[in-house]
Amino acid sequence: MENSKLIRKTRIRLTFLCAGIAIVIVSAMSFYFLHISEQNLYANQVLAFENTSASLFYNISQQTVIRPRWLENLEQNGNVFVQIRDNGKDYLYNNKTKGTSIGEIFDMVYEKQEEQPDFPLLLSQNGTGYLTWYNKIVKENGFMEVTVVYPLKDFQAQLASQKRTFLQAVLWISLLLVLISFYLTGRLLKPIQINQKNQNYFISSASHELRTPLSVILSCANACRMAEDPERNRFLNTIETEGLRMSHLITDLLPLAKTDALTYTIQKESCDPDALLLDSYDAFRIPAHEKGISLNITLPEQIAPACNLDKRRIAQVLAILIQNAISYTPSGGCIHLSRLFKNGKLYFIVSDNGIGIPDQEKKEIFKKFYRGDVSRRDPGHFGLGLSIGYEIVKAHGGKLSVADTPGGGSTFRVELPGN
Ligand code: ADP
Repeated sequence: MENSKLIRKTRIRLTFLCAGIAIVIVSAMSFYFLHISEQNLYANQVLAFENTSASLFYNISQQTVIRPRWLENLEQNGNVFVQIRDNGKDYLYNNKTKGTSIGEIFDMVYEKQEEQPDFPLLLSQNGTGYLTWYNKIVKENGFMEVTVVYPLKDFQAQLASQKRTFLQAVLWISLLLVLISFYLTGRLLKPIQINQKNQNYFISSASHELRTPLSVILSCANACRMAEDPERNRFLNTIETEGLRMSHLITDLLPLAKTDALTYTIQKESCDPDALLLDSYDAFRIPAHEKGISLNITLPEQIAPACNLDKRRIAQVLAILIQNAISYTPSGGCIHLSRLFKNGKLYFIVSDNGIGIPDQEKKEIFKKFYRGDVSRRDPGHFGLGLSIGYEIVKAHGGKLSVADTPGGGSTFRVELPGN
């Protein structure tokens, strides 16, 4: 699986894991508080019902005449229904609930009271709860049975609406938790992503670095088959030199694999700049020739003073520039190598009459992974060569720049301190 896909998948999994745990905790706590709040509300309902019923029973025990108006007021204020039986006979007042669902509840209470349950008693019918209380009041001239019923319909509706509000709150909080987890896991995985990007960069860099000497070796080996001495020996020498360069590159790349940044250590030694350029010329003569490009070199008559440079690194820069010139110059073109020594500075110049570089891209080409538009890029290149060259020259305290070749093409100039 592609690494970026793996990271995305891990991010999504981590998001759901973290958010899932948080959601379970938040939901458990919310529903616990909801339960406690429902219990309290119910206890309040029972208490209010008990108070209303107790005052009703007391009043009835004290009154000799019970007026329907008084009962009606009491029912309205306490949201209850009352039925009274005098010595086993229904009051006329009872008729108003006869045949209704409340009337059925009264009948249920009378049946239940024979089992002598504890009052208040909770009954339910068709999904609605009713708090009920039956009381037998003994009077001088017999007894009175008083039953109070309190429908919990409104209370149940209130609980349902509270539950809905809680559920909505939990859903919004869950969504928020998912978003927060997604953001946080993204931040958590960022260092891994950077590390992975560096690794990819390293692999591309390594293959780019190795490809140049390898293509020289393959061309020389091919040419060796047909060549005769002493030409053959020259090819063999080039193969040996490039083989050695590859071996050095591999030695350099391995420690680079362990570091996150592309860093170059420069080991300067005294060297002859002309010999350096001649070696590069020798190395690329055949690949240029194979593409039908003429590669030539001009060295001033005045010998350049020995300079302190990292020979291998500068050879690497020249290789990158010449390889690019070959890649971006069509067959029949021409590449020119030269060396200058001016104002205490050493210059290597690689000039071609190839496809050239538009002005707006001249700065961009030195950035890592920058590649020209599709029509102008060489397939198989990673856009690393010039950035590597730029870093190496910079590490020497020099500059790598590009300009147009008069008449078309590109001219790269390596400026180095000449001591
Ligand atoms: P690449 O590996 O793609 O060649 P480089 O960093 O070496 O990467 O070069 C970056 C881009 O600069 C190339 O894709 C190409 O568009 C442009 N470029 C480099 N050298 C030349 C050149 N000699 N002529 C024209 N364009 C060039």
